Amino acid sequence: MTDAVPYAQALAEFEPVIGLETHVELGTASKMFCGCDTSFGAEPNTHTCPVCLGLPGALPVVNALAIESTVRIGLALHCDIARWCRFARKNYFYPDMPKNFQTSQYDEPLCTDGYLDVDVPQADGTVEVVRVPIERVHLEEDTGKSLHVGGATGRIHGASHSLVDYNRAGIPLVEIVTKPVVGTGALPAEVAKAYVTELRDVLRGLGVSDVRMEQGSLRCDVNVSLNRPGEEWGTRSETKNVNSLRSVERAVRSEVERQAGRLRSGQRIVQETRHFHEDSGLSTSGRSKEEATDYRYFPEPDLVPIAPDEAWVAELRAALPEAPSVRRKKLTEELGLSVLDSQAMVNAGVLDAVLATVEAGAPAAEARNWWLGHLAQAANARGVDAADLPIRPEQVARVVALVAAGSLTAGLARQVVDGVLAGEGDPDDVVAARGLAVVSDEGALGAAVDEALAAQPATADKVRAGKVAAVGALVGAVMKSTRGQADASVVRRLLLERLGVPE
Ligand code: ADP
Ligand code: MG
Ligand code: ZN
Repeated sequence: MTDAVPYAQALAEFEPVIGLETHVELGTASKMFCGCDTSFGAEPNTHTCPVCLGLPGALPVVNALAIESTVRIGLALHCDIARWCRFARKNYFYPDMPKNFQTSQYDEPLCTDGYLDVDVPQADGTVEVVRVPIERVHLEEDTGKSLHVGGATGRIHGASHSLVDYNRAGIPLVEIVTKPVVGTGALPAEVAKAYVTELRDVLRGLGVSDVRMEQGSLRCDVNVSLNRPGEEWGTRSETKNVNSLRSVERAVRSEVERQAGRLRSGQRIVQETRHFHEDSGLSTSGRSKEEATDYRYFPEPDLVPIAPDEAWVAELRAALPEAPSVRRKKLTEELGLSVLDSQAMVNAGVLDAVLATVEAGAPAAEARNWWLGHLAQAANARGVDAADLPIRPEQVARVVALVAAGSLTAGLARQVVDGVLAGEGDPDDVVAARGLAVVSDEGALGAAVDEALAAQPATADKVRAGKVAAVGALVGAVMKSTRGQADASVVRRLLLERLGVPE
């Protein structure tokens, strides 16, 4: 193995070209070509039927909502919408694909030639807009899932046997492919991450998918090549299934470093797929793509062509929600957020989450503090981006509301958020299950107050002698012994009453 060249140095020497292929599972209730349920997490192979299992003689029927969602995605990405197009069969054998072909689109995609403008944080802390060109948006079906059992890594290598779950097979999957993105200079990894972030926000705004990278409903393949200035583009590698925003950035970064090392020492880049490893942030070689696989594509004979009516497309266009970038700009202005403030949030990748928390009813300052404070710390501890945390803006807003209503103290609120992050359900569920309501009942607090006074007689004397500020230490002791559940203002009043000091 050749030594990798540090990112900045690699980019001083080579020009990067990146390309992103993003797969998004649509949130339709039924599958692409049959009526099977699409919900996540069901018992394996319970959401199947003759169509999605590819049994002989079964005939597909197109899911109309999937077509509509794909057209809306295309419109949101400023694409041309085909007047007429067809599905194609992509023929290959793999155990997770029961039909032995994937119904996809090939030379006649539904949407072509668009773009997405993305906010890219610069090295100096400012934010610049970069236009990422979109090649195509097409519709296909997802495959099932293989589970390799018995090995250490979960990969087929070393496994004793494999299991297949076809619940996911046939779920509508939209693929969004960028044109090669050039001119990203010193920031290809940052542009890639900003693009996927923005795309996710657009898709979420359209309501077409739950866009959960950790559950695989949004997945990204990252293409990277390097060339010396003035030379032709280099050979690309394709890092598959990168499953968090942070990993998108890391995948580009590590690939730039690896390729620069090889090129510098006179080695060539092999056109191949690579597997990204979350733990190390590095990728390893997968399947070679030096020889193009022949998928023997041909038009799907069991489906009629799709011919979106112009008037219908115009209607969909008119009904598109505001683009996230427009919404962000409006909201930041309305909220009086300074440019610096919103840039800090863009840099932390939480601007959209903050705004969504505000839209769910939280005051801007509270929303900002959660996402740049406790949630940023939680994300850091887990090695993910705050926006990737398993908590929704509405849930954060609910916690803020509970604090405002006096049902939670700041400390309890953090415990509730931690509970949501740990998968214990909505904030109210966590409050109930963990018994985290504020205790303001004076009888219940009395014992804890007396205990604190007995444990700190010197502090009690100080307060009696007129140093009222010292009561803080006693309040702190009561908060601690009640695990943060006491209402601090009630505790303070009780302490002062007992010490005979007027407030
Ligand atoms: P494949 O099916 O082989 O992955 P696609 O056309 O679906 O091919 O996707 C290829 C992706 O790689 C696109 O996003 C494209 O823009 C990008 N790409 C093409 N050439 C290069 C290159 N030289 N360097 C980096 N990315 C590239
Ligand atoms: Mg590909
Ligand atoms: Zn089915």
